[in-house]
Amino acid sequence: MNKRKLISKIIYLDYHSTTPVDPEVMKVMLPYFTQDFGNPGSSAHPYGWRAKEAVENGRKQVAELINVSPREIIFTSGATESNNLAIQGVVNYYKEKGNHIITSAIEHKSVLDLCRELEKQGEKVTYIPVSKSGLVEPDDIKKAITPKTILISIMLANNEIGTIQPVSLIGEIALKHGILFHTDAAQGAGKIQFDANKTNIDLASISSHKMYGPKGVGGLYVGRKARLNPICFGGGQERHLRPGTLNVPGITGFGKACEISKNLLPTESDRIKKLRDKLKDGILTRLDYVYLNGSEEHRLSGNLNLSFDFVEGESLIMGLQGIAVSSASACLSGERNPSYVLKNIGVSDTLAHASIRFCVGRFTTEEEIDYTIEEVVRKVAYFRNIYKSVHL
Ligand code: PMP
Repeated sequence: MNKRKLISKIIYLDYHSTTPVDPEVMKVMLPYFTQDFGNPGSSAHPYGWRAKEAVENGRKQVAELINVSPREIIFTSGATESNNLAIQGVVNYYKEKGNHIITSAIEHKSVLDLCRELEKQGEKVTYIPVSKSGLVEPDDIKKAITPKTILISIMLANNEIGTIQPVSLIGEIALKHGILFHTDAAQGAGKIQFDANKTNIDLASISSHKMYGPKGVGGLYVGRKARLNPICFGGGQERHLRPGTLNVPGITGFGKACEISKNLLPTESDRIKKLRDKLKDGILTRLDYVYLNGSEEHRLSGNLNLSFDFVEGESLIMGLQGIAVSSASACLSGERNPSYVLKNIGVSDTLAHASIRFCVGRFTTEEEIDYTIEEVVRKVAYFRNIYKSVHL
């Protein structure tokens, strides 16, 4: 079978990894590849003006999603870059003030790897542990603050277990202590109500491809209080914070994706949650020794992360090839180590290896969920029989 036919038969339940571009988003992007291809920095002719207008419209749409001013949005290549710009930018700007960062042990690698790198350069980093359900305890943050703390960086929602962190409470603590607060909102923005203004957030990273926009574009919200040094130098674009010619088609698509997500959010989240709960109940009522990872209550509506006991993890993942799911976050696939997020919430290595992240999204259908339940139940039963014959 050719690869295209094969893909069309695979059920996609990996929406945390990435999402397809919404057809409406695609439509608004297309003219900016061909007839409206100008550089928004070209101020002397209509090609440039049209491109600039498209960028500013996109900026407005992104800003509206998180209720901030368009002037506070910097376009980047995605949340990895936004996280790097936010954290390194603050560290470099506030060198005189302090050198201590507070983050959590289950942040995305683009935060954790950067923090490890900064430690090598003399910064101090506190990695706050999380509870068994994957939640950061705001009191732990309060206790970790020192006179040298310049930044708190806690994600809005986790990419593996979908846990939604108490960012409003953390924002209050940061405000009270005069410390900047950054949140990696790559998985939360567009999926849950998120108002950066009300939550006392100073910096927020967003990614277009996690919300049905194109890949390679994202944003960093930089609130009025926050000061950053750039990490890349060149032209003066994006208030000198992110130089380089802007990705006009990407930005128009990102903007449209934000507008659609904002409009759909109230109904979409309910629909997705119903499908996710159907999947969860369908599996949990028919199989024993399956455990839910992460908080039931404070969780993204599409996320389901399950550990299956008494199966070889790798065979299960391989056995479910008709369903696109993840065994850990996509960024970690290829690594043989069990997920650090699952380890941090107390899941054993064996169970962590036999864990699957399902993520329901905008284009998931009920038939796909029904099929997935049957397939998971059938495959787990099959692999448990093999496991029994080998181990018992
Ligand atoms: N943060 C989180 C929580 C993510 O899930 C991801 C994507 N896996 C990123 C950051 C990086 O986003 P991007 O792909 O846009 O660089």
